[in-house]
Amino acid sequence: MKIKEFYDIVIVGSGPAGSMAALTAAQDGASVLMMERDKTVGIPVRCAEGISKRGLTRFFEPEEKWISTNIKGAKLYAPNGESCPMISDALGDGYILERRLFDEFIAQQSLLHGADLLTEANVYDLFRKNGTISGVKFNHKGKKKTLNCNLVIGADGPESNIGKLAGLDTKLSLNDVESAAQYRLTNIDYDNDYTHFYFGNEIAPGGYVWVFPKDKNTANVGIGIRQDKADKNAKYYLDKWIDRNYKNPKSLTFITGCVPTAMTPEEITTDNLMLVGDSARQVNPVTGGGLSNILLAANIAGTIAAAAVKRNNFSHKFLKKYYKMWLKEKGKRQKVNYKLKKLFFNFSDIEFNETVKMIQEIPSDKLTLFELFKAAVHKRPSLIKDLIKTYL
Ligand SMILES: Cc1cc2nc3c(=O)[nH]c(=O)nc-3n(C[C@H](O)[C@H](O)[C@H](O)COP(=O)(O)OP(=O)(O)OC[C@H]3O[C@@H](n4cnc5c(N)ncnc54)[C@H](O)[C@@H]3O)c2cc1C
Repeated sequence: MKIKEFYDIVIVGSGPAGSMAALTAAQDGASVLMMERDKTVGIPVRCAEGISKRGLTRFFEPEEKWISTNIKGAKLYAPNGESCPMISDALGDGYILERRLFDEFIAQQSLLHGADLLTEANVYDLFRKNGTISGVKFNHKGKKKTLNCNLVIGADGPESNIGKLAGLDTKLSLNDVESAAQYRLTNIDYDNDYTHFYFGNEIAPGGYVWVFPKDKNTANVGIGIRQDKADKNAKYYLDKWIDRNYKNPKSLTFITGCVPTAMTPEEITTDNLMLVGDSARQVNPVTGGGLSNILLAANIAGTIAAAAVKRNNFSHKFLKKYYKMWLKEKGKRQKVNYKLKKLFFNFSDIEFNETVKMIQEIPSDKLTLFELFKAAVHKRPSLIKDLIKTYL
């Protein structure tokens, strides 16, 4: 594909964060190029593909092409096998995507609104003119090249390098990373109306096992663990759980990955540069789900980026509006969710059992996110105050 010699904005990465930022900025009139190191947008898929109804429909009408399954709700399982179903708008109803096609859809929308895309373009450095970030250096099909722009957006995922190259501190401590493994299993028997979450220190130290329905006998069956709490790797715990729970499962795919469950750092912008998505640590720290938050964050980032182009102002001071807007939308929740994460994933198995029992006792029409978290934090009055401020 032919690309221009100069763009207002170059976006590194064409995952949901990059594509959504590209779509918004292009809609607002900026010239945008997305650069993707892989050959194909949306591949490989490193995701269980779940998204809440609210998180998705805020931006897109669901399309049959990229919706794999409709989900009624979620079921949580304690280590003793007891479970509680959660069915409501706030609690678990949503979709399992066909993520490859969903990523392609957002990227396509951005192209239809005027953005460009260059695949097989691996950005390895920032290009600076007199010390100012003025573009990117990249490898394209074996050739080293430079491209000029006014603003770089790093949407390069959990292992992001762009932030580091710009001097931003996006380091993750071991207790802020979930190490993940996932099979797509078929020939399994399970309730495919629900997503299923299994907790316990033997099952998934510092995390949980998930079963996300693809069809009546196929599901994304995965695990996230905290490596600092575990003796073995994520695959070991997942294989053990699968052996115990399915008679003759057959694997279609296997992937590994990591999920940053940290707080968003205060500095996700600098002069002429912004970070968005996993690279800016915008995942929900309790669930490890990134998609809903990332669509929102990228929409804000794209809006501010286009405004910067219109004003010809790419200063940190101006771009920081994006962080402030992100904080206003999600800041309080992310802070409380981060505290909840620290609490939940240090629970003993007895505490997990007690929590599920308390949730079972809440009438289903009264079960809100607030009631759910209240049950889990009933021994921590200070957190209940935070919850009231955030969720009521
Ligand atoms: C096993 C697993 C299961 C998950 N399940 C869920 C789930 O069910 N629901 C949910 O909401 N979230 C889930 N997540 C999290 C979710 O997948 C991420 O939050 C989301 O993909 C982040 O989007 P992103 O665009 O920021 O990054 P990515 O999707 O990682 O996209 C980054 C893109 O940048 C490209 N790139 C990287 N470096 C460069 C470079 N130097 N040059 C050019 N291109 C580059 C990559 O190739 C990639 O295409 C899961 C994560 C894992 C690992």
